[in-house]
Amino acid sequence: DHRDLHSFPTRRSSDLSFGIENRLRQALENEEFVLHYQPKINLASGQLTGAEALIRWNDPKTGLVPPARFIPILEETRLIHEVGRWALGKAIEDYQRWRRAGLPAVRIAVNVSPLQLRSRSFVAEIEEAMRVSADAASGLELEITESLIMEDVNHNIDSLRAIRALGVRVAIDDFGTGFSSLSYLSKLPVDTLKIDRSFIVDMASGESGRTLVSVIIHLAHALKLNVVAEGVETEEQRRELRRLHCDEMQGYLYGKPVPAEIFEKRYLAPIPTKIATHA
Ligand code: C2E
Ligand code: MG
Ligand code: MG
Repeated sequence: DHRDLHSFPTRRSSDLSFGIENRLRQALENEEFVLHYQPKINLASGQLTGAEALIRWNDPKTGLVPPARFIPILEETRLIHEVGRWALGKAIEDYQRWRRAGLPAVRIAVNVSPLQLRSRSFVAEIEEAMRVSADAASGLELEITESLIMEDVNHNIDSLRAIRALGVRVAIDDFGTGFSSLSYLSKLPVDTLKIDRSFIVDMASGESGRTLVSVIIHLAHALKLNVVAEGVETEEQRRELRRLHCDEMQGYLYGKPVPAEIFEKRYLAPIPTKIATHA
C-alpha cells in the first residue's frame, strides 16, 4: 500500500541499464570478454570441420555471464559494434596463432549481430581485418541469425556478396525460427544453414519432428548449401542426423564450448587431425 511504496528508493529501469551499460563499457576496456570455442564435426567422417566462437563476459563480481544476458544490452546501447569488432579480432588472432604454431587450424565462425551487418562500414571492417595475412579469409566464417537477415534484405545481400568475395564464408544461424521468404533464401549469398536446436530436440517427439528436419536438410542440399545441426546432445540424434545425410553437427554430445587453450589442446592436436569415431 501507500507506505510500502515509499519504503523503497524508487529506481527507474533506465538507471539500472545505465549501471550495466557502464559496467559493459568497463568490461571492454578491462578486457573482461572472452571467447569460448565449440567444435563442429563432420557427421560421416567424424572429422573436426570448424569451431564456433561464443562470447562470455568474465564479470569480476559474478563470474562468467552468458551472452543472452548482455548481447541485447550491447545492441540497445550500440556497444555491440565495438564488442563485435573485438570478437572478430580475437577470433582472427587465435586462428593466426594456431596456424603459426603449426596446428591444423580450422575455420572459426563468429556470430555477427544484425546491427553490425546493417552498418555501412561493416564490409570495409571485414576487408581491413583480412589484411593481417593472405590466408585470413580461409579462417573465418560469419553466422547471422535467420530472423534478422530478412530485414533490409537487399542491403544484406549486397554486403554478404562482398564478404564472400573475400573468401569468408557465411552461415544462416538458428534456421527455422525466422520466417525466411523461400524466394529470398535461394538468392541469399550464403554457404551454410544451421538448423536451430529446437528442431533437433523435436526429432525425438515423433515422425513429424523427424520429417521437418529431413525437409530442412533436403532444402539446404537442393540450394547447394552445407547443413549443420545445432545442439546435438544424444547418440540417437546423431544417428538420425547421419541417416538423414546432415553434413555436420555441433552440440554437447561431442563437446561444449571451452576456452581457447583447452580447445587447442583437446581438438587441435599437432599430428592427427582425424578424431576417432568408434565407427
Ligand atoms: P548461437 O549462435 O545459436 O549459439 C549456439 C548456442 O547453443 C550457444 O549458447 C551454445 O553454447 C549452445 N549450445 C551448443 N550446443 C548445445 C547443446 O548441445 N545443448 C544446449 N542446450 N545448448 C547448446 P551461448 O554460448 O549461450 O550463446 C547464445 C547466443 O548468443 C548464440 O546463439 C548467439 O546468438 C549469441 N552470441 C554468442 N556469441 C556472440 C557474439 O560474439 N556476438 C553476437 N552478436 N552474438 C553472440
Ligand atoms: Mg551461432
Ligand atoms: Mg544457433
